[in-house]
Amino acid sequence: MTDYFEVLERDGAARVAELRLAEPVTTPALVDDHVDDAGSLWTGEQAVPDGAESRLTVLPHRGLPAGTAEEVADSFAVDYPAVDYPSAVVVSADTATDHGADAYLVSDAGGSLGHGAGMKDLVLGVREAIPDDTGLYLSGVATPRNVAVLAYAGVDLFDAHRAYVRGTEGRYLTTDDAYFLEDLDELPCACPACAKPREEFDREDCAAHNVNALEAELRRVRRRIRDGRLRDYIEGQARQDQWLTALMRELDQQYGYLEERTPVYRGADLDAATEDTLRRVEIQRFAERVTTRYRSRFDDHPLVLVPCSAAKPYSESQSHRQYMDAIQFRGHIVSMTSPIGVVPQELETTYPAQHYDSVVTGRWSAAEVEFVSEVLRRYLARSDYPRVIAHVPADYRPILERIEDDIDVPVEYTVADHPTTNESLGNLREALEGEVAYSKREREHNTVRALADVQLGDGAGDALFEEFRTTSRYPKLQVRDDDGTQLAAQVPRYGTLSFTLAGARRWDESDAPTKRVEIDGFVPHGSVLAPGVLDADEDIRVGDEVLIEGPAAYAIGRAQMHGAAMVESTRGEAASVRHVEEK
Ligand SMILES: [Zn+2]
Repeated sequence: MTDYFEVLERDGAARVAELRLAEPVTTPALVDDHVDDAGSLWTGEQAVPDGAESRLTVLPHRGLPAGTAEEVADSFAVDYPAVDYPSAVVVSADTATDHGADAYLVSDAGGSLGHGAGMKDLVLGVREAIPDDTGLYLSGVATPRNVAVLAYAGVDLFDAHRAYVRGTEGRYLTTDDAYFLEDLDELPCACPACAKPREEFDREDCAAHNVNALEAELRRVRRRIRDGRLRDYIEGQARQDQWLTALMRELDQQYGYLEERTPVYRGADLDAATEDTLRRVEIQRFAERVTTRYRSRFDDHPLVLVPCSAAKPYSESQSHRQYMDAIQFRGHIVSMTSPIGVVPQELETTYPAQHYDSVVTGRWSAAEVEFVSEVLRRYLARSDYPRVIAHVPADYRPILERIEDDIDVPVEYTVADHPTTNESLGNLREALEGEVAYSKREREHNTVRALADVQLGDGAGDALFEEFRTTSRYPKLQVRDDDGTQLAAQVPRYGTLSFTLAGARRWDESDAPTKRVEIDGFVPHGSVLAPGVLDADEDIRVGDEVLIEGPAAYAIGRAQMHGAAMVESTRGEAASVRHVEEK
């Protein structure tokens, strides 16, 4: 039970939370900037400081008894008294376990500084051993340069110890480097400590600057988390030190850890500016869903591969209007793009297909070619198109050449020089001569089914939407049953289906995979708070539609936490409720 730590915002493994000290602290933050001379703030016996309410109270480290990790953990669990103020328990990476504290202070984190794999093991090891709504505190490690990547990994609490001590040693820390103070003719900072004339600026000032720089970086990190844009920052910031790049890549290998904590959509666009973008969860998850959940319902028509457009959704761009004009619904449009892979037209509004900005140079890197061709290969393996028409510029050809041997039909190229010239568009029109067009109704129905597939799981579109009709115009389709009762609506901004209660019932009764939150005997209005959750499916992600049910109510809403966090947490909003009925 944690009373003093509440997660408010999530961005992957990073969170903005409130730690309720006498003066509440919004994390990721420094929870103590006090440093004693020995630099041994947390190792002494006197760990409960005077005026305990004003500070995070650290329960004393009793030294590691002999025994297995489990025995050690047990001895900690019984040793700690109940405290009625924010508490942190000192744990080591090997023995971390749930002690019912608000925060967990890792005593041996310094040894992992400089080691990407080691730090990844440490953070994930502890993070997965403690409840989601508790703070993870790494003492003695934070610097202006590394703190953003550490927060990205899931660390909530830091102290200024290392930044301060480095300053007293004459190292001037910035987000990009650790300078020798004596080498700096000009101080590259405008904080109050650095306002002193250079000749009067001593090591004490240097230490003060380092702490200021650390505080400033943490403000940036909190802003980025709130905006859902920490990853975009990290891809640049991790470059400032090789071990941080290694740590980011190590984390990218931990797909399960990051994926569980990454929302299914975000308000912010993602910046595709580095090759690391290809490995981020949103990109990998979309590729996975397109190639394992989505199934083309137009594969009795020719496939027409086209380049993506800068304007989103693609169908509203000038170039795509020209392609559609030439195609006249006689072929299935699938866009090829880095970093997303392939985007069937029905999915053009889904996240992140219309939420990314990439650097367009007309040159593909080897990694991009490999990624997009692999997604295309997997996509084609699940479909059965009679023809493959590639209406793409020459720089897309290496991607197609990699998969030509894997498909039964030849790839037909229709672009002479540029896809939107009259000649190229004429070739495309001609190539589709004699092909049968599909109807608007077919297009709209298959869009609804495709959205259900990627959102809910393989087969969901057919399981839920055999019989239905649509009203309103794309991309704001409304889904109704044969009596006209609304079941769901397409959310144009994120390409999700949001269900009504009637839609929820249909989903519940179908063979499609459901996501369920089991609640206590109350009728939720507006939101379900974590203490009211009895159980929740583990595969629930932030932003997912969830069926909410308890002895007194049946409701449909949207997840605000991932499933495991709903079960573990004792504070915070687990799900928002859209519609509810009493039982
Ligand atoms: Zn400064």
